[in-house]
Amino acid sequence: MQIYDTERRAKREFTPRDEGHVRMYVCGPTVYDQIHIGNGRTFVAFDAIRRYLEAKGYDVTFVQNLTDVDDKIINRAAEEGRSAAEVANEYSEAFREQMRRMGVEPPSVQPKATEEIPQMISLIEELVEKGHAYATPSGDVYFSVSSCPAYGEVSGRRVEDLLAGARVEVDEDKRESADFALWKAAKPGEPSWESPWGAGRPGWHTECVAMANRYLGVPIDIHGGGSDLVFPHHENENAQAEAAWGTPIANLWMHSGMLRVDGEKMSKSLGNFHTLKEVLDRYPADALRLLLLQTHYRSPLDFSFERLEGAQGAWERIKNTVSALEWAARDDATSAQSEPGEAEAPTAALQGAVDEARSEFSSAMDDDFNTAGAIGALFTLATKANTYLAEVGEGAQPNVARAAADALVELFGILGISVAPGQATLPSELVDLAAELAGFAGGSPEEAAEALISARAEARKAKDWAAADAIRNRISALGLVVEDTPTGSRVVRREG
Ligand SMILES: [Zn+2]
Repeated sequence: MQIYDTERRAKREFTPRDEGHVRMYVCGPTVYDQIHIGNGRTFVAFDAIRRYLEAKGYDVTFVQNLTDVDDKIINRAAEEGRSAAEVANEYSEAFREQMRRMGVEPPSVQPKATEEIPQMISLIEELVEKGHAYATPSGDVYFSVSSCPAYGEVSGRRVEDLLAGARVEVDEDKRESADFALWKAAKPGEPSWESPWGAGRPGWHTECVAMANRYLGVPIDIHGGGSDLVFPHHENENAQAEAAWGTPIANLWMHSGMLRVDGEKMSKSLGNFHTLKEVLDRYPADALRLLLLQTHYRSPLDFSFERLEGAQGAWERIKNTVSALEWAARDDATSAQSEPGEAEAPTAALQGAVDEARSEFSSAMDDDFNTAGAIGALFTLATKANTYLAEVGEGAQPNVARAAADALVELFGILGISVAPGQATLPSELVDLAAELAGFAGGSPEEAAEALISARAEARKAKDWAAADAIRNRISALGLVVEDTPTGSRVVRREG
């Protein structure tokens, strides 16, 4: 398996340190707000990578931190008149919730910065002892960039250039402009911890080093993140590991490309800024995953709602194909077979297409996780399956139809995309309907359906038959049915 390594600027054969076990670390979010779809892209890309490694039989230990102490959190807390911990807790939960909705597997370990302070302090102490870091009179501790010959290896920048290009520093305590903070002295009202340098809090670049070493042991096999983290964050992480322990933090660096919206950089001022939650409230996660993974993880990705709707259509067509294949593969399907021999050639062709799709999927994924190529191979299989079904009609060979359906479900499943039929997704219009009729405050179409069902149940309980009927009729106008079953009601797509 070949993986592109940011540090070497080339693909290389992947060999984990321990056979069969991959130690992987992907930098997590700073929890001060809902994450945006650009972050969503990064986390989905690494989720697909992790899932593929697992599908290949590797045991993957996946660590992802939550940065729960940071200027952005402190500023937001001050603006809203609450504690930094309250803000951090709210958005840590929000992050986990959106990852769950997005179908991202939870990390093996998800440490929080505020719970790893002793480990960070001992790392900083080690750096100070070895002469790679220094405390200032005001109680800050800086890493001395020029003391570390490895500095610049990850990003390919040269220390001389960094120093030459730097402007005069505001902070005169810093020895050189490129030095970065490992520990920040406490300002009044900020969360702080006791340390050998006085009360303060850790700098962002230190937490991942302490956590990667504690939970995985350095050098780890794969360190990942968005490409905006290459410099300075990952450079600074690596320098600390090199300086403290004489080893790089990671053997291989992977970075996902940036996401643009409608061809422009996403920004609040351009009005094209979208949170992941906002998008998941309106579209199925599977459709969004399909859109995100149709672009190779290292390439820039152009997001638009038009493209997302296109991906949703493609995903629904694949599900229809799987559904038609499963119908052809049903137990009593053989009775409807045509004359022997008639469907032989098309059946052999479909079996060939299944084998080809499986092998193309693996070779695309083995080539630096080329999800775009892998999805292309599956689309080709779906097209061939549709042609086959149209060609042979009732004479489809159940075993081959089953093999094609299984390949589509299994291989899309490795990318975390469900194409199994019978899970008809509900349309986003349900959310608006629930807001109007049931005071629904927002969420997924499935949650909106729940809200509508309980509003209808309450109306019935109050014998307000007009209101109960109105809810059912409006749902039915969306092409859906309220199905009352012995275990409760549910909203489903109307058959046919
Ligand atoms: Zn990090």
